[in-house]
Amino acid sequence: MKKIIVHIDMDAFFASVEQALNPLLKGKPVFVSGNTARDSVIAACSYEAKKYGVKSGMSVYEGLNLCPNAVIVKGNPERYIDTSKRIFNILQTFTEKVELYSIDEGFLEITLDDDSYENLEKLGLSIKKAIYEETSLTCSAGISCNKTVAKIASDLCKPDGIMIVKEEQIPEFMENLPVEKVPGIGPRMAESLTLMGIEFCGQVRKIPVSLFKKKFGIKGEEIWYLCQGFGDTSVTVQSPQPKSFGHSYTLMEDTDDIDLLLSVLCRLSHQVGMRMRQEDYCGNVIVLTLRYSDFTSFTKRKTYPFWFNDDQTIFRNASSIMIEECFKKIRLIGVSVLGIQRKYQMSIFRNEKREKMLKAMDSINKIYGRDTIFPCLMLYEKMKYNPVKKTHAFMFGELKKISTLIPEQPV
Ligand SMILES: [Mg+2]
Repeated sequence: MKKIIVHIDMDAFFASVEQALNPLLKGKPVFVSGNTARDSVIAACSYEAKKYGVKSGMSVYEGLNLCPNAVIVKGNPERYIDTSKRIFNILQTFTEKVELYSIDEGFLEITLDDDSYENLEKLGLSIKKAIYEETSLTCSAGISCNKTVAKIASDLCKPDGIMIVKEEQIPEFMENLPVEKVPGIGPRMAESLTLMGIEFCGQVRKIPVSLFKKKFGIKGEEIWYLCQGFGDTSVTVQSPQPKSFGHSYTLMEDTDDIDLLLSVLCRLSHQVGMRMRQEDYCGNVIVLTLRYSDFTSFTKRKTYPFWFNDDQTIFRNASSIMIEECFKKIRLIGVSVLGIQRKYQMSIFRNEKREKMLKAMDSINKIYGRDTIFPCLMLYEKMKYNPVKKTHAFMFGELKKISTLIPEQPV
């Protein structure tokens, strides 16, 4: 019995999904972007575009300079999530130990009686075939005894490839591998290594690990081992995804004071947003529930074409529903976000400025205690029920200025 790790990475995922859906895009250089403006960023490009040197992360403008006849397609996150889920379901038919690493790649942990090269190849090909039959998309498969080497292998055999590196082949496999190919070594670290005269993983082995630790700290030690081809030998199976995030509140007395109702809704939206960010999820559906003084209820559900986990978006949209319905005294307010997805799946279409601000706000509350900083609309409720002598409320806009003071990682 032998435990192996398979890394499956879809080829040019977003662009391939678009090409599979639209025959007119097949065989053409395609850029997928958040929007079609020239200053927006290329989230993914097809292999036909890669041939011209286009890479994801470039601006559309740069991309068009290299490949002027490219077709620019506005990304459809919903479509990609749906395809990703279908792929994940297929992977789960091979083993229940599947780790979804990002929207288009995952690790499988499989135990085999026969781990001969032929048998591993058969396994890899059957996974690739199953994905292709379901989605018309190709992927690359890396197979080894740990996640690090499996991921490097799938990258080296792109597109539509399969590469097997057995445990005994790892030292030879790593020997001439450029250090920047190792997951965990970013461009900056690769640059530092180049300055030390290190280009290939094989060179790292000849340097004592203590020297790496002295120069780069704990990260240095980790890198030293990664360059020898060490890595996790088991996958992390995600806990089931929650269906919704919500909070509700029964008011101390029934009221039609719209300022108070908005203030309470603002707090609930803040609580929902904070929890979603803590657990790294976002959603695209808002459900607002109101219970009136006569115990009748109102519930409205609205779906949006974008994903969010920030307080202001939740509040703004929920309040626009609520304002229409405040025609009699209200007893309870509830707000939930549904359509939940892991946040990293949406990360290429994000609003970075806004994320920075929220990160700053969450860091302050984590370091200095809950409600150290909060949207100022929440003040109305606080003052009414629980007068606060000294409060540190900032307008959402002003948060931006102090975000620069906040460390990346709270200590
Ligand atoms: Mg990929």
